[in-house]
This record gives sequence, C-alpha cells and structure tokens, in this order.
Amino acid sequence: MSDALDEAVAAQAAWMEDLLVELVAAPTVLGAEEAGQAVMARAFADCGLDPVDVPLDARALRADPHASPFSWDVAGKRNVVATWAGEDPDRGRSLVLNGHVDVVPPAAADLWTGDPFVPRRDGDWLYGRGAGDMKAGLVAMTGAVRALRASGVRLRGDLHLQSVVEEECTGNGTLACLLAGHGDGADAAVLTEPHPDHLTLAQVGVLWFHVDVRGVPAHAARAAALGRNAFDAAGRILDALRGLEGELNAERHAHAWYRDHEHPIALNPGVVGAGDWTSTVPAACTLSCRLGLYPGQDPAAIMARVETTVARAAASDPFLVARPPVVRYDGFRCEGSVVDEDEPLVRALSAAYAGVHGTPPALQATTATTDARHFVRRGTPAVCFGPRAEEIHGIDERVSCASMVETARVLARFVRTWCGETTEVRAGARTGGETDGNS
Ligand SMILES: [Zn+2]
Repeated sequence: MSDALDEAVAAQAAWMEDLLVELVAAPTVLGAEEAGQAVMARAFADCGLDPVDVPLDARALRADPHASPFSWDVAGKRNVVATWAGEDPDRGRSLVLNGHVDVVPPAAADLWTGDPFVPRRDGDWLYGRGAGDMKAGLVAMTGAVRALRASGVRLRGDLHLQSVVEEECTGNGTLACLLAGHGDGADAAVLTEPHPDHLTLAQVGVLWFHVDVRGVPAHAARAAALGRNAFDAAGRILDALRGLEGELNAERHAHAWYRDHEHPIALNPGVVGAGDWTSTVPAACTLSCRLGLYPGQDPAAIMARVETTVARAAASDPFLVARPPVVRYDGFRCEGSVVDEDEPLVRALSAAYAGVHGTPPALQATTATTDARHFVRRGTPAVCFGPRAEEIHGIDERVSCASMVETARVLARFVRTWCGETTEVRAGARTGGETDGNS
C-alpha cells in the first residue's frame, strides 16, 4: 500500500523538479511575489484543485492585534489557497499544508556563483535564492497531493493548501488566510520549511524595530568643531542593545526548549542607513534591528525593554540627551510558540517519517520564527518539517532535490493516515452514473 504510494510520489519527481525550477526563477522578494503566486495557482490547478485568491486587505490586517505593523502597500497582493474537500469529514481529520512564496534578497549577488534567480542544478543540489527557504517545501507539499490524487486516494477529512506571501517580514499572509477562514480551526498544520530530519515544535518570536538617530551635519573638515555624527551615535545605541541581548540570553535557563541553546536570542542589526555625502557629517542614521523573544513572552514587554535600553543609553550620552532617538516598529512583531510532544500531529507525522526513513525524526526548537505561531495561537497544532537546504539567507542557497521528493513521500503517507482514506462508494455512483446522490 505504502509502496504504491511511494511509487506514485516517485512518478511526480520530474513534475516537482520542473515546478521548483519555475518557482526559483521567479524573484519573489518583498513586493514582487506575484510571479511566484501565478506559478503556484497553476500548480494547484494541475493537481485538479481550484485555486482561490486570498487578497491581503490592509485594513483588516491592521484591525487584528496579531498582525505585524507594515508601512508598505499591500494592495494587489494575494495568497493562493486550494482545498481538497474530504468526503467524510466526521470520520477524518482536517489538515493545512502551508508554505511561503516570498524570499529574502540575495544579500550580495556578486558573491554568488551564478545569478541568484537563475536556477542552477549541480548533482542533487538546486541553487537559487529561495530554493530552500522555502520553494522546495511548497513543491513537496503540492507534489504529495498530486501523487495522492493520481493514485486515486479519497480523503475523509479536508486538506487545505496555502501558498502565502510575507512570511519573511510580517507573517501577515498566513494571518490573512486564517482571518478569511481558510484552514482556520483545522485539526493540524504542517509548514514545509527547510527543517529536515526533525520536526520543529518550538520557535521564538521576533521583533523588528528601527532606531532613528539625529545628528548635526557639517563639513567633514570642521566635524570636530561643528558636526555631530549620527552614525557614531547609533553605534553607541547598538552597544547598549548588545547589552540587552546579553541579558535576554542569560534568561534562557527559564525556558525549557532553549536552556541548552548557547545563544537563542539573536539581535541582528540588519540594515543601517546614514548620511548622503562622504565629506558631510551624517545628519541622520537609522538602525534597523531584528530581535528574538522566548515563547510565552509578550512582544509588548520586549518592546518596552528595547525602548528603556535606548532611553537609558541616550540619557547617559551628552550627544544623545539633546537629541533623543526615536524607536519605530515596522515589520515582525510576533510571539513565539510551542507544540506539545504528545500531540497526535507529532506522533502521526513522526510515524510517517519513520515509515520512510526507518527511524523517527528528532523533535527540536528553532531560534527563528515561522508562520506556525498563527495556527498554534488559534488552537491548531502546527509543526515545521521539510527538505534539506544549505545557506538559507546566505550565498549560494541550495536545496537537495532528493530530500524534496523524500519530504513528499513522508507528507503523502502522513496525509493519508491523518485525514483518513475512504473507500466507500460515492453517492450517485451507486445507481450507475446518476449524478444526483440525493435520491
Ligand atoms: Zn522560511
């Protein structure tokens, strides 16, 4: 039975690799996700499902307390979803398979071996920005569904597919799906992020904040007498924030999933902008940072600690005391989440993994965030599991095509046992082709 399903997945391998190449060739950075969503809509249709758009509605998102703040325009953006309706939902469980189509920028395109958005195959590796994080995951979940349908499986419970935007900056894409009712209240969710050989049960929250520091511009030649350098001042703010990072990591012992991590809470000054001329003292500097927080911590509490840290640094600095920096929020503001090891989802997905690989997967925590938190907060247990990738967010990001197909094998087995399979004769088929089963 499983052998036949494995063969059905193997038969999709070429279709899956073609889809991966097409997706990686779509440079779906923030604001340019549509090319990838068009591909995913066709892929869902190619599984015999009806793709449905879930647009991002700025007003509806901003009205939800769990949306992350955003300053950019989301008009015209869409998630693409599809539902494979179960035939006996009372006796089957529902499931969401979720992946994000958006990718982070290449970081430094000149350091890549090739163009980050021209997919390149080398042995088992497929190179390209987003190949691992997480287009191969989107492909694996879609390939699993295509294999199940091609082999004639009929599910009892509903299966929901979601290809979402904005996972890398806000998480508002998945939130929009749930607010629209798609997959909301499902019995489980699997996010096919690049988490191979383990299921991710715990994740940190993430806060994006931006510190605006002002200076006094002057000719560089008179900098000492007349200028006040905003970039230098921002450096002193960053020193203070590094102190907060140290404090937060020292608190890891109170958090079960993270006490053995050396450095679970990372402060990343990711973007710095200052000045407009090399011979002018910069008048302004903006320091854009990402900071993690433990599951169970309220993002508001971490925001308060960031603001206090910045205010204290300013109060003890003669330059900054006269020009108090401003802390703004734009992008991620989200809590962490944890799923219990005894959840039926964890046991069933582990069993499916063991059926393919021989041994059960490890159960882990990640020091990153994913959209799993939205499901968990709304009562749907959610874990991450997916293909093997290297250098995500780095140079020469790549994904193992074999692991993508193996992920699809695990998912296909899992979907069949989780949602349940019905072999009952469809109503209407009983009387030899009568289409109205209501007789
Ligand atoms: Zn990801």
